[in-house]
This record gives sequence, structure tokens and C-alpha cells, in this order.
Amino acid sequence: MGLEIFPNKLCMYSEIQEYKITTCDVVLTHSTDSEDEVNYVGRPVGYPMKSQYIDVRPERWVAFFTRLINHNKNIRFNFLGNSLDYAGICDVLEYLNYNSANYSFDVYGDFYDKIEKIRCYDEYASISQVNVPIEADFKSVLSDSLSPKHNNFTKTWNSLKTLVSSEICGTVVAKIRVTSNNIFGLPETVEMLAKDGIYSDIVFCDVQKTNMYDAETKTISTELVHNDINTQMVVDKVMLNSAYVVNSNSFRRYCLMLPSEMECVVYSNMRAISVDSDFKLRLCDRIRGTNCTNFDPLRLIEQDGSISMEFVDLVKKDYESHCAGCNCKNVFVSQTTQA
Ligand code: SF4
Repeated sequence: MGLEIFPNKLCMYSEIQEYKITTCDVVLTHSTDSEDEVNYVGRPVGYPMKSQYIDVRPERWVAFFTRLINHNKNIRFNFLGNSLDYAGICDVLEYLNYNSANYSFDVYGDFYDKIEKIRCYDEYASISQVNVPIEADFKSVLSDSLSPKHNNFTKTWNSLKTLVSSEICGTVVAKIRVTSNNIFGLPETVEMLAKDGIYSDIVFCDVQKTNMYDAETKTISTELVHNDINTQMVVDKVMLNSAYVVNSNSFRRYCLMLPSEMECVVYSNMRAISVDSDFKLRLCDRIRGTNCTNFDPLRLIEQDGSISMEFVDLVKKDYESHCAGCNCKNVFVSQTTQA
């Protein structure tokens, strides 16, 4: 894997042109998203309204995942958004666990209650990894009873600890969102979590580069974190607990992408794919795109297990038309790990 530095960009390209999907990001439902999560600034022409995202039956997801696992048995599934609220979640979990799939679920809101609810439908249900979103100043807010965020963070902390001691989840990960305003608290937050056996997945906030981006709408550019001496000092302290930092081996390289300068050239090796809740293939986590969505996910993997080159061409078209870079960690990790 090469990393080529252009004046303001970091372009990732594959020296070995082997097309292999290592990461599949999935949103199973938008049904419980709050309104502002789908109110992108200036919704792009051709992108659906929230009401147009119709969930599909679990059988279709299972058929799709089966093709992907046949393509690469080590593929990693990242279930994003409120996927645990998907009506067919127990069928999906049963399939993933039965096939010993490598997967994780992001969980928002009352996450412990949500996971308990799944147990009501299926007493044997378990989730191999859950990612709970928190902010980098988590620890300092917990110690400050006057902070307006104190009660919310305390509730999250109690739920996290209950989750760790329960048998429902294999690995509990705090997905820590870092901004220029809260980065000061990152090392002590990582340290506190590590003491309780909770892993830290550190992601930096990003911006909506153009109106074709339908994620990361809440960040303003002054919140972006730059790869300067202060950030490097924070990273040095964080790495004291590297055993509890997810993808710690590539974390420093990930920081080279800051504030938002990765150009992943995804079509050069197709390491990462992304699928929306209406069962449409996207360009990536950040951009839905206008060409990829026309391709049937069930045709993505050919009979011989290879990726359809027709789809790769559509990805290239969307990439060249819409990508203005980002700092997406899932895509970065997919590009820097062995297929
Ligand atoms: S916006 Fe999408 S296509 Fe562009 S670099 Fe980021 S992940 Fe890759």
C-alpha cells in the first residue's frame, strides 16, 4: 500500500491491483433516525427523502452477506447508524453469529435497553462487538457535576459498565469523537476506559465537503483537528494505552489524513463498500453517489467469487464526479490492512 503526499492531499493507492472487499459498511434502517440526521445541508438532487428509505427484508441482507463471505471469509461488517433498531435484527444477528462473521454494531440512545430488548426476542442473542459513541472530553465532564452534559455522560458511563459486565456483548468499544474543542480530554478518557476493559476507537470529526456528502453534517470547520504538534503530543499520551486503542498500529498514519485530506481511490482495489438501508450500494460512508446506486447488490460478486468490474466502473465514475476527500476511519483502515 502506498501513501503519496500531494500539496494538500494524501492519496492512497494500491501497488498490488488485487480487487478484494475487506470492509462492508451497512445501515440496516433509517427508521429511528432523528430528523436532523437526514437533513443534510442542501440535499443533493437525486438523493431520497427520509420517507423514501424503505427497509428490506432480512432474507435479502442474508443473501448479500453470504455472497460477500464467499468472496472473502474474513470480511468485516460495520453496522452503522441505528441498525440495531432494524425490525429483522434477530435474523441478521443469528446469521452473523452462526457464520462466525467479523462484525460490530454502532449503538446510539439508550443502548443498554436496546440490547436488552433484543434479548427479549431471542434469549441467546449476542453481539460480538458494540461501539458506543462518546466525546473525547468524557472523563472531564464526568468529574464536573456543573457541566450541562454531566447527567447524560453519567448515564452513558453506567450503561457502559453494565454492558461490560453482561454476557450480551463480546467486546465493548467507545467510539470517541474528537474535535478541536475536546481533544484536550482524550488521553485521560482513553485511560479511564482502559481501566474498565473498554476499548477506544478514536475518530476525528469531519466536514461535509460538498452537498453530495450525506454524512458528517454537524461539524463546523473550526472544530476540525489538524495534524500539528499539539495533536501529536495528545497522540503520544493516548498511545500509552495502545493495548486498548482499536487499530493502534495504524493510528499515527491515520493522523496524517487530518484534518480531512484522504483520497482513498477506492476503485483501485475495492477494499471498502457501503450499503444503505434501501439496499442500494453507495460510493462510500460519506457519499451516496449517483451511479453506484443503480447496481443490484446481489450482482456485486460474480459466480467465480470476483467483484463485478461493471460495478467498479460505476464506483470510479462516482469517485471522479463527487469525491473531495475525507478522513473516514473505516475506509482508511480497510486500505491499510492486508486483504
Ligand atoms: S469521501 Fe468517500 S470516496 Fe472520497 S476519500 Fe472519503 S471515503 Fe473515499
